[in-house]
Amino acid sequence: METLQDLGEFGLINRIKNNTQIKQASTVYGIGDDAAVFDMGRNYGLISTDMLLEGIHFDLTYCPLRHLGYKAVAVNVSDIAAMNGIPKQITVSIGVSSKFDLPAIDELYEGIKAACEAYNIDLIGGDTCSSRQGLIISISVLGEVEKDKIAYRSGAKPNDILCVTGDLGAAYLGLQILEREKREFLENPNMQPKIEDKNYIIGRQLKPEGRTDIIHDLREINVVPTSMIDISDGLASEVLHLSANSGMGFNLFFDNIPVENQTLETSAEFNLNPINCVMNGGEDYELLMTFSQQDFEKVKGITEITPIGFVTQEKNNILVLNSGERTNITAQGWNHINKS
Ligand code: ADP
Ligand code: MG
Repeated sequence: METLQDLGEFGLINRIKNNTQIKQASTVYGIGDDAAVFDMGRNYGLISTDMLLEGIHFDLTYCPLRHLGYKAVAVNVSDIAAMNGIPKQITVSIGVSSKFDLPAIDELYEGIKAACEAYNIDLIGGDTCSSRQGLIISISVLGEVEKDKIAYRSGAKPNDILCVTGDLGAAYLGLQILEREKREFLENPNMQPKIEDKNYIIGRQLKPEGRTDIIHDLREINVVPTSMIDISDGLASEVLHLSANSGMGFNLFFDNIPVENQTLETSAEFNLNPINCVMNGGEDYELLMTFSQQDFEKVKGITEITPIGFVTQEKNNILVLNSGERTNITAQGWNHINKS
């Protein structure tokens, strides 16, 4: 018999999707994209939920609660941005064990409040429970998008240009540094941390941003991506999602993928293959999107967007390395079910 382990996270989601029926005329798109879509009349409404669990998604030994609150909002905002939408409201549900006191919860909400300011969104509700162990944060975000501006994972067309925002791989290596410092601190609490030259990558792990700035930039030049997804599980996994949903293939050029020097240097320090860190690292919360060649001409003016490949009719997904070698892109994205 098929087990949960066999299915994995994406298999399980597909199974739930296949057993779900849509009844409401106002439900435009249900399970299977970065956010669900519903009809609000003039615009589409968007809704997405993300849950963070202590010990699985965060470690409070090195993640300050204020940062955690901010990050929990930012990762939700990222899913609204991935639909080309603008976030408007959040609800915040928390499960709290007895080890947390009032100042701790205040800190968490300071971070949530800071994110609400940064993204111009309102906290409008939630739920509060006690938990047996550890902290649980589940946030739902509501957003809006004009009907002619929505971007699904499914719209990529042959010869479209594949682009990415910001740079990749940094958050994963920031996590490696934090984990190393934790191990060394546990062995020798008097040791000074060695993190002075790692500010960028640690910041990318502890305080990621949802790229709503890009959504505004695209509106200014009046361009809508043909497809879009946010990079939460790693570039490889997200390319495969665009490929499966669009029924297209992708050719990516590793040389074109933006990677910060600090990311490359740190991957060398840890003896990690930088290609693996960039393709499978996760938690970058950048946007991956495709544009028609015509629109791409206008996108060139946005410096935060970098072309990294193109769309093909054949469904093969290929990474072309600097040597010219071609490798198949396979999913090794973080499987939270197997991880836990
Ligand atoms: P993302 O990485 O963008 O947050 P996920 O991989 O978590 O997306 O989810 C993909 C899709 O599956 C989304 O449409 C999400 O709403 C849906 N989904 C995830 N878990 C469940 C679940 N337990 N029940 C119903 N839908 C789910
Ligand atoms: Mg997403």
